[in-house]
Amino acid sequence: MVDYSYAPEQQAFRNEVSAFIDRHVPSELVDEAPYVGIGVGAYNVGPLTAERRRELTNEWRAALFERGWVAPAWPTEYGGAGMTPMEQFILAEVIAEKGVTFPRPPDVGSTIMTFGTDEQKHEFLPPMLSGGVRWCQGYSEPGSGSDLASLQTRAARDGDDFVLNGQKIWTSGAKQADWMFALVRTDPDAPKHRGITYLLLPMTSPGLTVRPLAQINGASEFNEVFFEDVHVPVKNAVGEVNRGWYVGATHLDFERSSIGSAVSIIKTLDLLRELLVDPARADVGRLQREPAIRSDVAQRYVEAEVARQLSYRVISVQDRGGIPSNESSVSKLFTSELGQRIGNTGVKAIGLYGQLWDPEDSHAPNRARWPRGYVSAVAWTIGGGTSEIQRNIIATRSLGLPRG
Ligand SMILES: Cc1cc2nc3c(=O)[nH]c(=O)nc-3n(C[C@H](O)[C@H](O)[C@H](O)COP(=O)(O)OP(=O)(O)OC[C@H]3O[C@@H](n4cnc5c(N)ncnc54)[C@H](O)[C@@H]3O)c2cc1C
Repeated sequence: MVDYSYAPEQQAFRNEVSAFIDRHVPSELVDEAPYVGIGVGAYNVGPLTAERRRELTNEWRAALFERGWVAPAWPTEYGGAGMTPMEQFILAEVIAEKGVTFPRPPDVGSTIMTFGTDEQKHEFLPPMLSGGVRWCQGYSEPGSGSDLASLQTRAARDGDDFVLNGQKIWTSGAKQADWMFALVRTDPDAPKHRGITYLLLPMTSPGLTVRPLAQINGASEFNEVFFEDVHVPVKNAVGEVNRGWYVGATHLDFERSSIGSAVSIIKTLDLLRELLVDPARADVGRLQREPAIRSDVAQRYVEAEVARQLSYRVISVQDRGGIPSNESSVSKLFTSELGQRIGNTGVKAIGLYGQLWDPEDSHAPNRARWPRGYVSAVAWTIGGGTSEIQRNIIATRSLGLPRG
């Protein structure tokens, strides 16, 4: 039988991390994490203002940064701690258990670490850890989402530069970002997967315009990004020119691994369980007597355990120095769909209270996290590649089934 309990040195590390968090995390940040779904929520429901949250997160990031714990598995020369992916997972798990967000670096960091030149690593990696430089992802275009290789943003060679013309869409955080990585077409005559390059460019580039997209929930996290004769030095290509499809696909593997990471799921379920047995909220808790709700909650705990095992599978590949591919698709698919089921279970379990949307409403359980998590969890079965696309990848790459 496989023994999943922690080895003594892993338990000692958990204790060390736990003590570190108790010492360094600003208390106002505790339980500000969005929880529901997969820990990445479109909603911040805590009482802090966005500005105060940013200030405190910077303070928390600075404490982690001192220890090399913002990107623990990166080498120390780039600001990491040279830890194993498993140690990094344990750190993330303890942080989630404490109800705090882990201010991880963007996934483009792992891509630069894998494919970048030494110069690119030294220039781009350390500022990602301090949080001083923010990144956005230029993948999708109108008409090129799932069929990403059909992307049309053109990058024509002009001496030492590329000149970009075209458009990206659904670019999360582009309005706040300082840099973008973008997949662009550098050879329009090559077969579609072979004429693409992965480029890094500053958002202040002349000719680049960002237009926010208004969302039905009142937020504006996505943007359109337009390029009109935007010059980008050829040296900003990561990996070989025209081979960017493979760089971008690896980037997506990193992104799917982090979306699929199961660290905050048990914490989310614990929040629901504690609510259902809280004598002070007996009005909500009486619903737990419904056999269907009890059975649903129990089922979600079983699935959370499965999600954790899938995360271990991803980490075991990373621990051997590999890049998880099929494993990250399996984990992303299962965990993002589980996020939806958890949102559903939560809303069902609290009955009509699940319609209270305002975190300031004293009757709203857990500051209205359940209805908000319920709607925001949907996004993660789409972002990073939809569930259907993950199933296609698993079917063809892992099971050897023919392409449709
Ligand atoms: C929260 C979130 C954040 C995002 N952030 C970014 C970002 O920062 N940068 C960025 O570039 N993009 C971002 N996106 C966009 C995201 O990558 C795309 O929405 C996604 O890849 C799907 O593309 P699409 O929206 O064009 O849908 P389409 O590709 O048009 O798909 C429509 C439907 O058809 C299905 N479908 C399509 N092709 C197939 C197929 N071959 N087999 C079976 N079913 C298929 C899809 O599964 C989907 O259900 C984000 C999306 C979300 C939700």
